[in-house]
Amino acid sequence: MDIKKLVKPNVLKLKAYQAEDIPCKVKLDANESPYGFRVLNNVQTNKYPDPEAKELRKIFARGLKVRAENVLHGNGSDELISNLIVTFGGPVLYPTPTFSMYGIIAQALGEKFKGLSLDEKFDLDMDGMNKHIIKLKPKLIFLSSPNNPTGNSFSSERILQIIKKSKSIVVVDEAYQQFSSRKSFIPLLKKYKNLVILRTLSKVGLAGLRTGFMIAHKDIINEVNKVRLPFNLNSLSQKVAVDALKKTRELKSRISKIVSERKRLFKEMLKMNDIRPFPSDANFILFQVNNADKIHKDILKKGVLIRNMKGIAGGCLRVTVGTPAENNTFIKNLKQLL
Ligand code: PMP
Repeated sequence: MDIKKLVKPNVLKLKAYQAEDIPCKVKLDANESPYGFRVLNNVQTNKYPDPEAKELRKIFARGLKVRAENVLHGNGSDELISNLIVTFGGPVLYPTPTFSMYGIIAQALGEKFKGLSLDEKFDLDMDGMNKHIIKLKPKLIFLSSPNNPTGNSFSSERILQIIKKSKSIVVVDEAYQQFSSRKSFIPLLKKYKNLVILRTLSKVGLAGLRTGFMIAHKDIINEVNKVRLPFNLNSLSQKVAVDALKKTRELKSRISKIVSERKRLFKEMLKMNDIRPFPSDANFILFQVNNADKIHKDILKKGVLIRNMKGIAGGCLRVTVGTPAENNTFIKNLKQLL
C-alpha cells in the first residue's frame, strides 16, 4: 500500500518543521529567555521542550516492544486524531455511539464524516460498514476498542476484516486497552501498513499531562509529523511521563485495582432493580436507567458527578470506576435514588 496516495495533496507537498536540537553550551538560537523557573529538577522552563520527545518516545516504545521511529507523541491522543484528519482528510467513518471527537474534529476541519450505528450488541455492524467502505470510500476509519461510551471491545475478527478490506487508514483507538482482557492490535502493525494504533496516558493517572501516542508504519508517522505543531508536548509533561513510565509495577497494580473495582461495581449494579449496566472492558460502566436526567441531577445533589450520555446514548449514564470508597459512595447514593 502506498500511503502517499492517501495523503491530502497540500500535506504531501509540506516539509516538516525543523527544530534543531543540537547539544551545546550556549543556546541562543530560539528566542528563549535565559531566565527560567525551578519547578522540577531537570526541567528548564525557559527553553522550548524537546520537539521530538525523544526520551519519552523511547521509553514508551520499549514498553510496547515497538521502535521509537514508529511512535508519534501528541498533546493528548485527541491532538493526534486531529493531526490524522488534517493529514488524510475525509470522508471519516466511525461507528456510533463512540468517542465524539472523531466527528467533531472532522466537522471542524470541513471534512465529510459518517457515524454508523453499532449493532444491538454494541459490536460493529459489518453489513453497514462494508456498504459504507464501498460507497463512501472513507480515507479514515476510527474504531475505539474498547469503545467509549459503551465500554465493550469490538470483535477482533470484525476489526481485522475492516483493516483487510478497506483501502483506507484504519485507526484502532486503544485508549482503554489496558483495562481489557483482549489482545492489543499492536503486533498486527507489522502486517498491515494501513493500521494506526492510538494510546493515551490519560486513563492511567496522567490525564493532566495531556500525553498521547500514535503507533504506525514509518510512512504514516512521517506524513502526520508534518502537521504536528513543533513543540506540542511541554517539558513538564515529557519529564513527568518519562518518570511515570519507569514505574511499570505501580502502573500495572493500579490498572489491576481499577479492573477489580470495575468487576465489583458491575456486580453491585446487576443486583439493583430498574437499571441495566452494560459489561465493560474499560475503566467506566455505561448503564441504562429510567429517568436518566433526574438520576443524573439527583446524584449530583449528593455530591456524585457522573456523565449523562444524552444525545450520544439516550437514557444512559456513564460512571467512571474510582477508588473503592468513591465507588461505595456512588453505589449507596444510586441505590437510594432508584
Ligand atoms: N480516545 C478515546 C476513545 C477516549 O475516550 C478519549 C478520552 N475520553 C480519548 C481518545 C482522548 O484521550 P486524551 O486524553 O489522550 O486526549
